[in-house]
Amino acid sequence: MKEKIEQIAESLKEDVVKFLREIITIPSMSGKEEAVIQRIKKEMEKIGYHKVRIDPMGNLLGIMGSGKRIIALDGHCDTVGVGNPDTWEFDPFKGDYHDNIIYGRGACDQKGGLASAIYAGKILKEIGIPDNISLLVTASVLEEDFEGLCWQYIINEGKIRPEAVLLTEPSNLQIKIGQRGRMEMKVKTRGISSHGSTPERGENAIYKIAPIIRDIEQLNKKLHSKSILGKGTITATDVMSTAPSLCAVADSAALHLDRRLTGGETMDSSVNEILNLPSVKTVDAGVTVPEYNIKSYTGLVYPVKAYYPMWLMEETHPLVRSAERAYQEQFSQKAEVGVWAFSTNGVVTKGGEDIPTIGFGPGKEEFAHTPYDQVSEDDLVKAMEFYAAFILELK
Ligand SMILES: [Zn+2]
Repeated sequence: MKEKIEQIAESLKEDVVKFLREIITIPSMSGKEEAVIQRIKKEMEKIGYHKVRIDPMGNLLGIMGSGKRIIALDGHCDTVGVGNPDTWEFDPFKGDYHDNIIYGRGACDQKGGLASAIYAGKILKEIGIPDNISLLVTASVLEEDFEGLCWQYIINEGKIRPEAVLLTEPSNLQIKIGQRGRMEMKVKTRGISSHGSTPERGENAIYKIAPIIRDIEQLNKKLHSKSILGKGTITATDVMSTAPSLCAVADSAALHLDRRLTGGETMDSSVNEILNLPSVKTVDAGVTVPEYNIKSYTGLVYPVKAYYPMWLMEETHPLVRSAERAYQEQFSQKAEVGVWAFSTNGVVTKGGEDIPTIGFGPGKEEFAHTPYDQVSEDDLVKAMEFYAAFILELK
């Protein structure tokens, strides 16, 4: 089987490179994915996916096979922006190709992984997809701004719950089994306004925030590593206040916090940690996790809580073992297993919904979001091979 997969993947190399270069030429920043989704849909139809549809949020779902067991290969099709164009050596939207490397925004994160996943469907079609499996390839939206939101929609509104999810984000062809989570918090203090000329008559909410900021700084130093994901962190990212005028004492103040979550740290534990700070107790400050209403390119509005749970798979989990076996069989060497530094849709598939999830993708993590965004042709082919071998290993 190894040779057969290798041979079909090699025969598809030109097609997958051409397709990736084309979708790089279609800008698709988060919330503006419509054009790229339409183009990817066409490709899925050309390849012969059995069902191809766009859900009301705008995610593209392609299904190959008709088995009861749904195995998902997820790739987000949105990208971050370009930043300062002068820092780019290549045009971010031309799909440049030199010495077997494809350049441009999204090449690495992660139109490359998506292209390989879509073409893995073609390999499986030629070999014959196992009877008991339906391969679901998703081109999901909004990941760069609100990772996981697309999957909250697919699972809760679309009523599709895969048995397992493989994220195709760049991993340098290593198996990834987790990542730190993150959340936002808002700490709010109240005061009483008075004229700025007689502050002693009021109660200044900003002064109540000051000791809390110092406690947060100390708290960050006390957080320690609880797992292979590394240490959790906390930092202040904004201070806001209200007052009837700039000549009046502030009657409310709020501190915005960014919290990165490691093993065992949850939304509740992190909120309680803040509520238990002496400075917060003294002034009876409130702590909330913000909620936002997000609009996708289709106009659908969907709420999201600013909480993206950490996730980590046991290395002995059967899904991780299957991935290791598929890698070993396909490439005749042992797979490297590790965790991602960045955040992915796994925050919902595994973190929120506890669906077994792993990651594997072409491209190096360090090129993501940089003006050097790139992926090698060789990686694309290897990823394609791995995805096909992995699905066949699961049958
Ligand atoms: Zn990504």
